[in-house]
Amino acid sequence: MPVTTETRPTTGVSRTAVIIAQARATENAREDRLFADPYAQAFVDAVGWIQVAQAGRLNQGHFVLRTKFFDDYFLAAAASGCRQAVVVAAGLDTRAFRLEWPDGFRLFEIDLPGLIAFKEAVLGVQGAQPTCERTVVRADLRTAWPAELLASGFDPEQPTAWLIEGLLMYLEPADSDRLLTDLGALSAPGSRLAIEHINQEYVELPQLRAVHERLRKVGASWRSTVDDPFGWLGGHGWNATVTPQTELAARHGRPVPELTDPERVGSARMWLLEATRSAEAGSPAGAGRA
Ligand code: SAM
Repeated sequence: MPVTTETRPTTGVSRTAVIIAQARATENAREDRLFADPYAQAFVDAVGWIQVAQAGRLNQGHFVLRTKFFDDYFLAAAASGCRQAVVVAAGLDTRAFRLEWPDGFRLFEIDLPGLIAFKEAVLGVQGAQPTCERTVVRADLRTAWPAELLASGFDPEQPTAWLIEGLLMYLEPADSDRLLTDLGALSAPGSRLAIEHINQEYVELPQLRAVHERLRKVGASWRSTVDDPFGWLGGHGWNATVTPQTELAARHGRPVPELTDPERVGSARMWLLEATRSAEAGSPAGAGRA
């Protein structure tokens, strides 16, 4: 499908994927980049100017550190023998093209049909070739996505590395909970999960007032938070650890991003979490919700 006015994600929550692509394109242009994303600029160019870009500018440093953090999460999972990953709400994530995956690694990307149409069109023009066995799954994560994922060849008996990056704040709390329940039902022992989420104090940061207004105008308001991510994930069968952005910034020789610096934002948090499936969680229930 060509890149046309119809395929551009100019409104709605899918537009937020372009903000992240813009952050990755900016990082890619640096000589001392923490990762290479050779396709990010092509997505941005295909969309044009983004009115909600202030969100990106405020969070540029965080988006870069989080991308590197989740890159390393996937590479560690693959190095430990995992051979299947699901990028939940993949947006314009190009890890299937830019990371070095072991032979036979299967990666599933789930997102809304409109976003996927745009992404596939741009990647097609770029002649992008995946470095793994990549499958796109067109589904709404508030409804019957497990059936779509299973129909696409996902194997619930194999350990999976799941990633939920930049999604949960856009879902209603009940939809986030159902997503975690369904995902758990598809997680074999040895599975891992990485997520990003925010707490309520983060939403209330005065620096974000104008961003909220712009997101609201494009239909991408934040709808949920988690104040106790360990308890929430624990209740869904995951043992979680958090990595503070201060630690990531020190690890990679970058400044601590303003909105994730406890000295500047107090107890407001944008959590970066990794989790392993707890032994008590048991084996996959099979097909999840139909
Ligand atoms: N994870 C990607 C990244 O970090 O580059 C994209 C993050 S972007 C901020 C949010 C993504 O969530 C968009 O691609 C949007 O289309 C997707 N999304 C939001 N609500 C969704 C839903 N109900 N079902 C499927 N995808 C959804």
